[in-house]
Amino acid sequence: MTTDTTPIASIEHRLDAIQTVLHRHGMQPADFIQTFDELAHEHWVPANGAGLVARAWTDPAFKQLLLTDGMAAIREAGLSMPVHHRHFVVLENTLDIHDVICCTLCSCTAFTIIGLPPDWYKDLAYRSRVVREARTVLSEMGLDLPAQTQIRVWDTTADTRYMVMPQRPGGTDGMTVDQLAALISKDALIGVARI
Ligand code: FE
Repeated sequence: MTTDTTPIASIEHRLDAIQTVLHRHGMQPADFIQTFDELAHEHWVPANGAGLVARAWTDPAFKQLLLTDGMAAIREAGLSMPVHHRHFVVLENTLDIHDVICCTLCSCTAFTIIGLPPDWYKDLAYRSRVVREARTVLSEMGLDLPAQTQIRVWDTTADTRYMVMPQRPGGTDGMTVDQLAALISKDALIGVARI
């Protein structure tokens, strides 16, 4: 058995080498990163999903559309999803049923609607445990559900993306859609928090 003693290039040299190859093929990684960063921080934000939920809380016809044809509701609201996200399923939480989403394989979410997944969502600990002991995991994350509340865990796939519609909190009568939307966090749209 021999030992490879070839010195490893520094990160800077390796980065230079990768960029040289990309440029040679006409690719502009810096432009891509800038575009992606802008999309992620300014367009793919949980305020999109929060706006859908807040509108549904105040507009029964829109709520019906959102729950039965999520893609149509997204289009009506002027939002979009990547082509490979073929289905957008909205899960309504009630007093008796609490929905929570995950991706057991990796990190899939409806990211253009609820924002990019949090780091913990991508951790093996969350992905593997929430499907087996959801009540415990939610409790550890600060959400203690009543024993009689049924928990449903939804495993995202490449072509089916989910969003949780949290329950509208009490004491919010008379609030505008924008005021309601401001109450709704990314965690609530994933189902690891209530409002
Ligand atoms: Fe995934």
